Amino acid sequence: MRVRFWGTRGSIATPGPGTNHFGGNTSCVELTTDKGDLLIFDCGTGAHPLAVELASQGKKSIHSSILLGHTHWDHIQGFPFFTTAFKQGNSVAIYGPEGSRGSLHDVLAGQMEFTYFPIELNQLPAEITYHDLTEGIHKVGGVRVATQFLHHPAMTLGYRIEADGVAVVYLVDHEPFSEQLWRADAAPGRIESILHEGDRRHAKFMADADLVIHDAQYTPEEYASKKTWGHSTYEYVVDIAAAAGVKRVALTHHDPDHNDRFVAEMEHRARERALQLGATLDVFCAYEGCELVLAPRLALKPFVTPDPFQASVAQRSFRILVVDDEPDIRMMAVLALKQDQHTVTEASSGPEALRMIDEQMPDLVVMEFKMPGMDGIQVVKALRAKPETARLPIIMLTAMADEAHTRAGFAAGVTDYVAKPFSIPQLTARVRACLARTAVG
Ligand SMILES: [Zn+2]
Ligand SMILES: [Zn+2]
Repeated sequence: MRVRFWGTRGSIATPGPGTNHFGGNTSCVELTTDKGDLLIFDCGTGAHPLAVELASQGKKSIHSSILLGHTHWDHIQGFPFFTTAFKQGNSVAIYGPEGSRGSLHDVLAGQMEFTYFPIELNQLPAEITYHDLTEGIHKVGGVRVATQFLHHPAMTLGYRIEADGVAVVYLVDHEPFSEQLWRADAAPGRIESILHEGDRRHAKFMADADLVIHDAQYTPEEYASKKTWGHSTYEYVVDIAAAAGVKRVALTHHDPDHNDRFVAEMEHRARERALQLGATLDVFCAYEGCELVLAPRLALKPFVTPDPFQASVAQRSFRILVVDDEPDIRMMAVLALKQDQHTVTEASSGPEALRMIDEQMPDLVVMEFKMPGMDGIQVVKALRAKPETARLPIIMLTAMADEAHTRAGFAAGVTDYVAKPFSIPQLTARVRACLARTAVG
């Protein structure tokens, strides 16, 4: 298997003398299997030089699969210039997370509307197919592909590719679920010691991979003012990858404000951290033109998804109950979920919530931890004790995001634990991911 980086920049293309080494094009990575399957992760501006290279190989026809992590602009803006799609006889299969407001086709067609681009999506001569994905195991060409939702203010999928006796995992863009990675009472550096269920699931998804390509846009110092923006620090990536037994990590989605010198310094610090941890992890910052050849291993265990029965939640409306004693916060959560097409009801206390759930069962509950009288944990315990609500998805949305509260939440049976302050797109994406794992049909 061969992997080549065509775009390593996040947010906006950043060409110029300051980025010559690590590159200025936005996200795009090419993966070719020994049998000739061509997979392309993301379609940032790096997709254009990739298409030029593919054309220069003189093949009669090119069959490619594009795996989009999400549809933020820096991950799709190269698609109108992916000239492989301009030639009849070529085929392009596009995969990406199902959206809440429009299909993959509609989102891609949107950026090629007449106002923005001279050729419409449906006029492209290649045979193009669209595949809206949720979590699970898929087959792309001859390749086994597992998908799992990441933590980003948009529906975003990570991809785990298993072929040629190796596993490559693409995790761009992603932010830690919890500020604190490890439980204080357990030895750090092991998957079992991870505090938040979301981070633990993330570690398991990349476990034992030969190569992990991971968003590492920020330093830990920068991250303090960039929470909820949906990106990781190199420190988080090194720590979690080392715990997951990953062999090699490519840090990518470099910040447009980071020049080559800055990224090289981040690489140095990331390597120091891996050394401190005593990990055998090989970590580097991805650069444009970087090509890796991965040799097969004899014992590659296929990834098993923790939730095999994933439902499609694309453009579906669900009934959601928001429970919070603070009217302003409640209003913000209600507004966010209504904008995402859900039917939302509100309760201002635990007992009121229990009464309302008794009257009409919602599809999901979003609840504050700290409320006067009966607090959120007591409500969760009461719901988990009854068979009808034992599996009702509950997202705790709270400022009480320290270790003790997070652990108490998961121990009581919450499905997900989201820290305040939150952003509207972050909350809606977490709710959709939760519904995809729990919704029926
Ligand atoms: Zn991005
Ligand atoms: Zn993004």
